Amino acid sequence: MRRLLIYLFSLTGMFSYYRKRQKSPIVLFWHDIADDANAAIEGESFPTDLFRKQLAYLEKHYEIISMDEYYKRYINHSFTNHEVVITFDDGYKNNLLVAAPILKEKNIPFAIFVSANNIEEQKRFYVSIPRLIIIGAKLNVVDIPMMSFHRVLKSDAERIQCANDIEYTIKFFSHEDAIKVSEYLISIVGKPKYEELCAIYSNGNLLTWQDVITLANDYDCTIGSHCMDHCICHEKQDQNLVESQIVESKELIEERTGLKCDYFAYPNGNYTEFSNSIVEKNYKMGFSTERNSVYAKSRACVGRIAASSSFLLFKYNITMGAKQFR
Ligand SMILES: [Zn+2]
Repeated sequence: MRRLLIYLFSLTGMFSYYRKRQKSPIVLFWHDIADDANAAIEGESFPTDLFRKQLAYLEKHYEIISMDEYYKRYINHSFTNHEVVITFDDGYKNNLLVAAPILKEKNIPFAIFVSANNIEEQKRFYVSIPRLIIIGAKLNVVDIPMMSFHRVLKSDAERIQCANDIEYTIKFFSHEDAIKVSEYLISIVGKPKYEELCAIYSNGNLLTWQDVITLANDYDCTIGSHCMDHCICHEKQDQNLVESQIVESKELIEERTGLKCDYFAYPNGNYTEFSNSIVEKNYKMGFSTERNSVYAKSRACVGRIAASSSFLLFKYNITMGAKQFR
């Protein structure tokens, strides 16, 4: 129903009307771009034809600028409100293999926020483990004593629901407990099976440090931080941990690549006053996943819009999201 209304809305020329009256520049974010993704396990993946279509739309209607240019205009209050910045979260290998060549072909700048320790150790994000194990290994029962969680699974639909429920729940655990749950899930199937699943569902593979250097040198790519271990900086998280995740990730990225790491994006978009104070001290800018106007909050948690996998919603979210920004 909502889509039908948006579709009818798009026919009236309202996108064009509101686009001209936008009140804020936009920072968009994607995760990975791949044509062979499994929708249930690698659900944040976008196919290349859709990505190309989105880029063509942005090129036609907006000014696509680099992160440094965005920061410059932010400081100088010189936005035209027709700017778009393209960003990717996490640091997937296919950002280099698939997305970067497409962006280079079009001379489009972009930024990638990498989770430093995941790159260092080439380990998957704990939030992605429930999907990989439960759906990938077709578990018939999930028993996690530390969560008092028990569920019998009879279909793929139930496995998807179960994996999503666990993923959502552990995002708000302490970082330590969330890691314990993901490690426990891996132990259920055993390391060899886990590695076999990683090889099958390879779109979750991460960049190496050499890949990060290649992106910065051979492409118009800015490298930012996404914490050390994709730690979600919510209220209940230990403050010392949050501080070290934000500060040490910058240090590790700079040490391994020789690049300056001036920008930060919060995993899952969550931030606190405390985390913002650390980001402000250590970075030029930080980004959340809220749809705020560029100056609505501090420079530590500037809003971003998630790229939608529906092209119609993609256009709607950009146009109307920005229109609502004040
Ligand atoms: Zn992330």
